[in-house]
Amino acid sequence: MRKHFGKLVVGILALSMTAALLTGCSSKKKDSSKWVIGTNAEFPPFEYISKADGVIDNYAGIDMELIKLIAEDNDKTVTINNMEFDSLIISLNNKQVDACIAGMTVTDERKEEVDFSTPYYVATQVMIVNEGSDIEKATDMKDKTIAVVQGYTGETVVKELGYEYEAFKKGTEAIEELKNKKCDVVVIDSATAAAYLNENKGLAIVEDKDAFSSEEYAIAVKKGDKETLDAINKSIEKFKEDGTIDKLAEKYAEAGSTAE
Ligand code: GLN
Repeated sequence: MRKHFGKLVVGILALSMTAALLTGCSSKKKDSSKWVIGTNAEFPPFEYISKADGVIDNYAGIDMELIKLIAEDNDKTVTINNMEFDSLIISLNNKQVDACIAGMTVTDERKEEVDFSTPYYVATQVMIVNEGSDIEKATDMKDKTIAVVQGYTGETVVKELGYEYEAFKKGTEAIEELKNKKCDVVVIDSATAAAYLNENKGLAIVEDKDAFSSEEYAIAVKKGDKETLDAINKSIEKFKEDGTIDKLAEKYAEAGSTAE
């Protein structure tokens, strides 16, 4: 009986190993030639979906081209894992992705959870209003209906000003709200605001350098993942110095597409 039991155990083991091989469970072991990159492709001109101009599959934008170049520079291939902005940091910590590039601003709060690369872009928050709006500075938003995107630094900035606001899941939703006059102002990152203006008539950008300080975008990696961070930083330095990043920013400033 004991013997049989032993055989049974060996049999089950062998079976499950075969099953693991067949279903690819054993591929849980990390493929070091591949990076899985988290993004939120709702943030033109940095990342958006475009069947026509996709750089990695259907994903286009400054960040998508940049991460592709960084990966190539490190002999890696990339696949994109598109998710909600709020899930990006979680997905790094769950090891679902190797790095996140998503126009992500370096903040002290986020630094507690992830490590950031050398910054590659400087932005600021701006206000998007309908043409003819009387909003000229941040404090003019006091009694207005404000829209932000959930989890973006724009939300933090409005919160810090102490104003009420409504948070939307996507920038495009906030912009629709503005166009339909259901809100008076959208607070969002500068280059993204410019991209929305390229696509939508009747809107204007209002800046307030006193109220909104500059923000730096960087690539996030799992805390302590020095190997990935060093690899990314080495390439960012190179692409900053040789003008590649400036060229990408110029190229997409014109495009600013939100096209599907
Ligand atoms: N820069 C903003 C932030 O980090 C928005 C980024 C984004 O929506 N992709 O919160």
